Amino acid sequence: MNGWIQKNGQPEKDVMERINRYTRRPYKAEEVYTFSVVLCDNEVDRDFECFTTKALEKLAALFVGKTGILDHDHSTRNQAARIYDTAVKVFPEKTTSRGEVYAQLTAQAYVPKTAETESFIQSIDSGIRKEVSVGCAVEKRTCSICGGENCTHIPGKLYSGERCVRILDEPVDAYEFSFVAVPAQRAAGVTKQFARKPKKEVCSVEDILKRLETEEDSVTVSGAGFAALKAELKTLKMRAEWGERYRESLCGRIRKYSAVAQPQFSRGLTDSIVKHLSVQELEEMADALGKMAESRMPVTPQLAGRNNGTEKAADDRAFCI
Ligand SMILES: [Zn+2]
Repeated sequence: MNGWIQKNGQPEKDVMERINRYTRRPYKAEEVYTFSVVLCDNEVDRDFECFTTKALEKLAALFVGKTGILDHDHSTRNQAARIYDTAVKVFPEKTTSRGEVYAQLTAQAYVPKTAETESFIQSIDSGIRKEVSVGCAVEKRTCSICGGENCTHIPGKLYSGERCVRILDEPVDAYEFSFVAVPAQRAAGVTKQFARKPKKEVCSVEDILKRLETEEDSVTVSGAGFAALKAELKTLKMRAEWGERYRESLCGRIRKYSAVAQPQFSRGLTDSIVKHLSVQELEEMADALGKMAESRMPVTPQLAGRNNGTEKAADDRAFCI
């Protein structure tokens, strides 16, 4: 599928206003040559691919302002045509091979009339140049048979009488276009690229570490990602504070029990032991010392009063301290 060119008449005033948005100085109508280009349509192309009408509408917005190279030779890069307007033309009476209402993405382009562009303008006027080659990137490419994006159906093949086609949707970029001189090469036409899936937003420290370890050298964080990271940091700080408080309470218990269970240990010695222990080890130590201290502690009078049988034993234990 190739796009094609249609001749235009002298540009009107409103057209000149649009064109002059792109020029360094205001051009007069007689200084520019304008023409229409059909960039692409929703018919199935030679690659057994087709755009959705919605995709054409998105492309219409993406192609405005894009330039067309007059020749494939990039040395003449300055001599470019520019798209100043686009539209999706719908043909309600015409249907595509897939049975959809036929639609075309058309563009209005201009080229300044100069000595350099004279032959180009003549080639359009004379009908030598009829076609354009356009390029764009799409994000979605689904199978017409199963609706999947990564299936084994082969485009162009028939499956139960239905031809497999790849349906192109969600265009994300449109590139500059070029003019194809006749005889039109079969290879010319719409170049489509499958856009790389946008990367998942980085929004946690873990995401960043994972990316840096597995995929890339650097990570870009968006505004929303940055806000998420800040919130995560705040939560982490709060949790760290809770953890610190818990650790401190465990150390307090250990000091207290240690004074009873192992009074020969100075406070400084206990402190330097607990300093290097993990929270789990501190918990274990607090439990163990708690039990030891309990067995050494004198039974309180209240408790002793209630249980006379243990009173004597508790008193004996009190002497051990
Ligand atoms: Zn499929």
